[in-house]
Amino acid sequence: MSYSTDELARELLEEKAYPYWVDPHLYHYIDIPRGWFRLVSDLIDVLVNLDRDPLDPRMRLLHIKEMPGGYLSVSADHLNADQAELIRAACDLSSTICVHCGKPGDLSRVSAEDELAVLCPDHLALAIMAAARRLPAPAAS
Ligand SMILES: [Zn+2]
Repeated sequence: MSYSTDELARELLEEKAYPYWVDPHLYHYIDIPRGWFRLVSDLIDVLVNLDRDPLDPRMRLLHIKEMPGGYLSVSADHLNADQAELIRAACDLSSTICVHCGKPGDLSRVSAEDELAVLCPDHLALAIMAAARRLPAPAAS
């Protein structure tokens, strides 16, 4: 069985948070673009580093995913105020991080039918070129 780099990175994230999933036998809890792996990895690190923090050890994660509006969504149970704030901050931060490369970006829509996504200037330019190629060629006059 072969894995893409993205799939491996996602599985590493899932493994890191393994003891904290609601049902550790379910599969694919994390569904995020490559550019957000660092953000989510850092978030999991602080959320599960319970030994030195007075955080609620009953915390359980339900999902971590990209929502259609182009932002990160983290669902969890038994959060205390500190954990909820950490999650809120990471979700806010996601709207400034390119989904492809992790560089600073803005929420962008490159064509009428495309969903919103956070893109850096380079990836926005690529997306606009790709959208332009999908348009019908102008009629010859
Ligand atoms: Zn980018």
